[in-house]
Amino acid sequence: MLEEYSRVYARIDIDAIKYNLESMRKNIPDGTRIMAVVKTDAYGHGATRIALSLENVDYIWGYAVATAEEAFELRDAGAIKPILVLGYTFPYAYRRMLLEGVRPSVFRMDMAQELSDCGQELVDSGELTELPCVHIAVDTGMSRIGVTPDEKGADFVSKVMNMPGIQVEGIFTHFARADEADLSNAREREKVFADFVKSVEETTGKKIPLHHCANSASIISVPESSMDMVRAGVTMYGMWPSEDVPRDIVSLKPTMELISHIVMIKEVPAGTPVSYGGTYVTDKPTKIATIPVGYGDGYPRSLSNKGYVLINGHHANIIGRVCMDQFMVDVTDIHYVLEGDEVVLLGRDKNTGEEISAELLGEMSGRFNYELTCDFNKRIPRVFV
Ligand code: PLP
Repeated sequence: MLEEYSRVYARIDIDAIKYNLESMRKNIPDGTRIMAVVKTDAYGHGATRIALSLENVDYIWGYAVATAEEAFELRDAGAIKPILVLGYTFPYAYRRMLLEGVRPSVFRMDMAQELSDCGQELVDSGELTELPCVHIAVDTGMSRIGVTPDEKGADFVSKVMNMPGIQVEGIFTHFARADEADLSNAREREKVFADFVKSVEETTGKKIPLHHCANSASIISVPESSMDMVRAGVTMYGMWPSEDVPRDIVSLKPTMELISHIVMIKEVPAGTPVSYGGTYVTDKPTKIATIPVGYGDGYPRSLSNKGYVLINGHHANIIGRVCMDQFMVDVTDIHYVLEGDEVVLLGRDKNTGEEISAELLGEMSGRFNYELTCDFNKRIPRVFV
């Protein structure tokens, strides 16, 4: 079945993604919606396929992406739920965004003004029957995009709420420190955000329908910050936000496996150098298997002489440097091993159930679990099951 993918493929388990979302939902109050964060091609898992599989899930409000292009890709694929672009959007994209129900995050006056002008034009021309929606980003500690939760910020929000060409559907912030063992900063920032929104709503006399601040770590550790909606990213893909986030509150299933096959086995004598620079030299007669995957696929070069893969229920250590398109492992101690045998780079070995999790691969390579899945690039086909 998978012959065309036998060099390497990423197996994406859509049911596991749905299971993880359901787990997260159980930890937040009834009625709170979830925004499925599918930026960076759904953390490398394949955004369009995943979004389309969530179109009929009623508690999923819509999708969060990082750029207008990511939003348009979802629309082109047929996704109809609302989409929020979490980052800055350049003016060239405004018209299409507003026409297609893609919500920009707003935090600069020039941006708000241009969006309002564009929205007004679209309503006046009859291309839109309702004012397009925007969400306002508030900075509570990241020091990146967002208005500050102070008097100046309040003035910005009330001005935007009174603009004639847009409606403020949402206001949100993103916590810098919700994935730590000590949650005092996240709790305090949540209060700052809630007080800020409350005071703006009191001053303007208008309610903003959707307040949202919780990411995966907050959904697990600070569920009282759920408000109207939460934004789930990394946990949707079965990965943990950090080592400090407790593992016993929600249950998550892994959603991606990275599978390859051995393309050559050779026996070499002691003293044979392996790969560029000969950084590994065999110290005994050694059986070497070549795996046709490399950093050109996004497999980390930092696994050189460090990581291992699973073959027929055994660990096979990576020897020598990981090349752009191939790497070598030591299979001397694996008695039954043939060219064509399956190699698990990420995921569970069918024979033993042993797993190389994204967290473990991150640890071995000195990288971040979801940085890795984001880096697996388009040369690796995604196979959805
Ligand atoms: N909200 C914002 C603004 C983000 O930038 C991100 C991710 O970086 C998320 C939500 C999702 O976070 P997580 O993957 O930790 O759930």
